[in-house]
Amino acid sequence: MSIKKEDIDLLGRLSESFGPSGFERETARIVKNAGSAYSDSISFDRLGSVIFTKTGGDSAPKILLAGHMDEVGFVVTGIDENTGFLTFGPVGGWFDQVLLGHRVKIRTRKSDVTGVVASKPPHLLPPEEREKVVKLTSMYVDIGATSAKEAEMDFGVRIGDPIAPEAGFVNVGKNGMVIGKAFDDRIGTFVGLQVMKRLALGRIRHPNTVYFAATVQEEVGLRGAQTVSHVVAPDVAFALEVDIAGDVPGIKPSEAPSRLGKGPSILTYDASMIPNQELKSFVIDIAEQEGIPYQLSTVSRGGTDAGKFHLSGSGCPSIVVGVPTRHIHSHSAIANLNDIDSAIRLMISVIRKLDDKKVRSFTQV
Ligand SMILES: [Zn+2]
Repeated sequence: MSIKKEDIDLLGRLSESFGPSGFERETARIVKNAGSAYSDSISFDRLGSVIFTKTGGDSAPKILLAGHMDEVGFVVTGIDENTGFLTFGPVGGWFDQVLLGHRVKIRTRKSDVTGVVASKPPHLLPPEEREKVVKLTSMYVDIGATSAKEAEMDFGVRIGDPIAPEAGFVNVGKNGMVIGKAFDDRIGTFVGLQVMKRLALGRIRHPNTVYFAATVQEEVGLRGAQTVSHVVAPDVAFALEVDIAGDVPGIKPSEAPSRLGKGPSILTYDASMIPNQELKSFVIDIAEQEGIPYQLSTVSRGGTDAGKFHLSGSGCPSIVVGVPTRHIHSHSAIANLNDIDSAIRLMISVIRKLDDKKVRSFTQV
């Protein structure tokens, strides 16, 4: 494993940064600072995505790597007149049961405000109600205000303010495990940044132009991927993602085959894309030749940015490389640095072996 301490710190900063879909600016700044030294140029779409370019030997083909910067979060939907409690709605997909009792951060026009997601105290519920699942619609965020006026005037809260989970990054230090929020998809963002860094510092030769895009608004419908496709017009695309790890109690291997520590996942199917089969075989062959561990995975529901990339222009061979991660879309996910390192190494090997002829072969009949 060759992820350095300073790089693990960067992963921690990315994880802890505030960036629900549509509110990614803080994360974008970290990404911009981390990547600009290792790229030839930096550009932007007009939705908030950051795009780095690194030219190899010739200028073709155009290889797009992309990780989405946004995380699932919430917005304030109302402020209770009498109590100052906030009602809130999801930005992206949430499982209501992971919310209660957790801290969140609300970014107001004045400052960041800490709140707690709460509901009617269970002590006061009749037994039959206590057994029931509490829906997000009956939860509220308590920021410690005593009235709507105080919440608005003193705390600066307004309807539409973004809310993100508040949870610190932890490097477990054993077996490469790390714990943190927003690993979906700050891990993919980190993998892309590390690929750019290693390409630059290692002066790695390849004939391609590599783009790394940190996209926005993936969790609300792959929106940044659409605008980035327009800017880059890629010849081949890789969505750098997390994959839902199945090595938790109650999951059958057939439901989620990937496990932590067994290498990055090559996604063979998801609801938004069937990958180009030639490209898939090419990536698998490289992993085998280079002795990089990998896993074949499938996700029946949900999609990734590759769902847009593969439909861009007249079509673009695309695939998803994912880092197996437990407990995504919650306050604390768990992943393994060894898998992250393997994903970086796999992508570098792929870039070295890609050229114009190879890319054309992906779509030749
Ligand atoms: Zn994702």
